[in-house]
Amino acid sequence: MKNGVLPLRAQVVIVGGGIAGCSVAYHLAELGWTDVVLLEQGQLSCGTTWHAAGLVGQLRSTESMTRLIQYSTDLYGRLEAETGFGTGWKQCGSVSVARTPERMTQLRRTAAQARTYGITAEVVSPAEAAELWPVMRTDDLVGAVWLPGDGKANPADLTQALARGAQRHGVQVVERLRVLDTVVRDGRVHGVHTSEGFIECEVLVNCAGQWARELGRQAGVTVPLHSAEHYYIVTAPIDGVRPDLPVLRDPDGYAYFKEEVGGLVVGGFEPDAKPWGMDGIPHPFEFQLLDEDWDQFSIIMENAVQRVPALESTGVRMFYNGPESFTPDNMFLLGEAPAVAGYFVAAGFNSAGIASAGGAGRALAEWIVNGSPTSDLWPADLRRFAPWAGNPAWLRERVTETLGLHYAMSWPNRELETARPLRRSPVHHLLAASGACFGSKMGWERVSYFGPAAPYTFERPEWQAHVDAEVTACRTGAALFDQTSFAKFVLKGPDACQVLRRLCCAEVDVEVGRVVYTGMLNDRGGYESDLTLTRVARDEYLVVSGSAQATRDFDHLSKGIGDQRAVLVDVTSAYAVFGVMGPESRSILQSLSSADFTAFDFGTSRLVDLGHATVRATRVTYVGELGWELYVPSEFAVTVYETLLGTGRLTQAGYYAIEAMRLEKGYRAWGRELGPDLTPAEAGLRFTCRPGGGYRGAERALTAPARRVVSLTVDDPAAHLWGGESLLTDAGPVGYVTSAAYSPTLGRVVALAVVAEPLPGKVQVDLAGALYPAQISLKAPYDPTSSRVKA
Ligand SMILES: Cc1cc2nc3c(=O)[nH]c(=O)nc-3n(C[C@H](O)[C@H](O)[C@H](O)COP(=O)(O)OP(=O)(O)OC[C@H]3O[C@@H](n4cnc5c(N)ncnc54)[C@H](O)[C@@H]3O)c2cc1C
Repeated sequence: MKNGVLPLRAQVVIVGGGIAGCSVAYHLAELGWTDVVLLEQGQLSCGTTWHAAGLVGQLRSTESMTRLIQYSTDLYGRLEAETGFGTGWKQCGSVSVARTPERMTQLRRTAAQARTYGITAEVVSPAEAAELWPVMRTDDLVGAVWLPGDGKANPADLTQALARGAQRHGVQVVERLRVLDTVVRDGRVHGVHTSEGFIECEVLVNCAGQWARELGRQAGVTVPLHSAEHYYIVTAPIDGVRPDLPVLRDPDGYAYFKEEVGGLVVGGFEPDAKPWGMDGIPHPFEFQLLDEDWDQFSIIMENAVQRVPALESTGVRMFYNGPESFTPDNMFLLGEAPAVAGYFVAAGFNSAGIASAGGAGRALAEWIVNGSPTSDLWPADLRRFAPWAGNPAWLRERVTETLGLHYAMSWPNRELETARPLRRSPVHHLLAASGACFGSKMGWERVSYFGPAAPYTFERPEWQAHVDAEVTACRTGAALFDQTSFAKFVLKGPDACQVLRRLCCAEVDVEVGRVVYTGMLNDRGGYESDLTLTRVARDEYLVVSGSAQATRDFDHLSKGIGDQRAVLVDVTSAYAVFGVMGPESRSILQSLSSADFTAFDFGTSRLVDLGHATVRATRVTYVGELGWELYVPSEFAVTVYETLLGTGRLTQAGYYAIEAMRLEKGYRAWGRELGPDLTPAEAGLRFTCRPGGGYRGAERALTAPARRVVSLTVDDPAAHLWGGESLLTDAGPVGYVTSAAYSPTLGRVVALAVVAEPLPGKVQVDLAGALYPAQISLKAPYDPTSSRVKA
């Protein structure tokens, strides 16, 4: 499909003519951007798209991602009428079955979530599931969920329809043209060298599928994905398999089923996947498959036969083994690259590219046109990774696990197991020797709690007693937390204060030595991040934010500097951070230092001696107790930690205890309660916004809230919440729980939730289908003696 002469320049060059590239092109054109060229080295859909099974399941773990796929289904439903090209879209619905009570709990939770997001989801019995899908065996099932809005499409046709839709608006689609190199000038995309010459562009969109990592590398952009083999078979016709049969998912059996010309497509997600392409993707690789691997497929096949006994005696017409790209966390990669302006990515679709491409294409096109995302895309944001995540050996090991996550139990607090440990605090060995159970975030090993690993559960977990003890120690004595994984930057220069005044909603022009908690808002008044800033000199701030936000915040701050006189340096690795928190923290620190901890105001920070070391002590708290965060140069970390432990008065504690305590105190967390779609007024954080505005997002930050972050407690002390649960009134869903933990202080679960205005008087929590009365309040359920916290 060559149309016209190859231009010398275009506003946007899209690399890759799979479903992702075509969707971005289609949506750019819809938004009126038509100076766009899409380049495909082979033919449209020849990479991974052509051999996809075409399942489109709407349900995702967050609201924004679910809405994104809901949009895909809307689009696919109308594309044929709009473009005149068949898409094979059929809204056939889907049935997901449970073989175990735990899986059924998961399905019930999922169904409740779906309803909150406006998706029809019905819990059905095995007998009802058999009516929907008569050829399956159901005597070994506990139950099922029916999602009538799910569907299936023909991926190659869908891609053509999107391309035609884009072309109709003037987008140029060029096949058989390979991008060989990317040119970046002064931190901006400048153009691409192709097999037929140079094209200058302002925006480059990397939609190169499993080639995207290598394409990104040319421009210094990290696109962390790795290919793995992925399989399905197509069977001969089977009696009772009719064209309108829903899609069937049997996650406990790793398998899915879809009707195809009277037979079945049988595919799945095995728990231990097989990476591919370790030496790079061979060239050319068009409409190509890999060798059959029945050994690797056997776990899916054996389970498929258990579900559909007719398969035992049905012939197999075709074995598809196609490589697909997978990411370290099973979410795709979307957005502008942090280091190269104008470089956008939509890749790494983890075998959900057909389902995701419609919504992802629209979201990225809006991002390109508006200069920033128009909704919360954090779960898919490319900036959730850092350059270390591009390491191919690390990725290769990690994708053996991520492929299987599709059908693995989505246990609360589930941790990935492969390619760990990677990033370790300097005191990791001391924590391990003390019996820490580690979780991981942004590659860091972090203490969840001190105690043995315990089985995953939806109920109250076995580790709860350890966490309770840590919370109680912190509330009544003092606890020691290793928080080294915090992202830490230094912003320095004559204009540092001005830069931060523009980006931050709080007053940051404070005296040297003062600490400020602030939001950084977007133009919609939503939270790009929340940070703690310490003014360490007139022209210098120490910026501290959450471990997961390191790349995102660095990017946001660096872009915010513009041409002002300030530099931003990532000093995360230079400092360990130890939290000493609890009513006894003052006297413990005092016993180790000549500094005066009695004259140390809340929200101040200074250098102090501690044992033989010198550290920065900052008086803040995220747990609602008197306490200090100690910023310790890495080389002193072990000495300082040993000195602190040597007092014999500190209980070591982990992140689960922090979570429980911050929820008791109603402290919000970015990525849970706070996010790009939520304003300070909605978050209940108006008090952090300086009067008079003058900061980004000020116009929208304080407008009347349509919803609110509220604290929530469940009346029944035995009920256990994890976050994600729906909140209902008699009128239907009114919100959902964003974070939850058991509070030993209150003897019941405490949570934060987002609830629509006007706030209802009474709510019930949907706990896997069972309803529990709960209390919501704008106030935190626990308020320790304020003198201890604020004195
Ligand atoms: C067996 C199997 C079953 C699947 N089933 C489903 C399913 O049921 N539902 C679902 O949602 N998803 C499914 N998927 C996943 C889906 O196929 C992918 O996620 C999706 O096709 C990815 O699309 P893409 O556009 O990102 O990549 P691709 O389709 O691979 O497109 C990338 C394109 O970029 C081109 N390109 C690369 N480098 C260059 C360059 N330098 N110059 C020019 N062009 C370049 C390539 O030639 C390629 O055509 C399945 C995948 C497999 C393997």
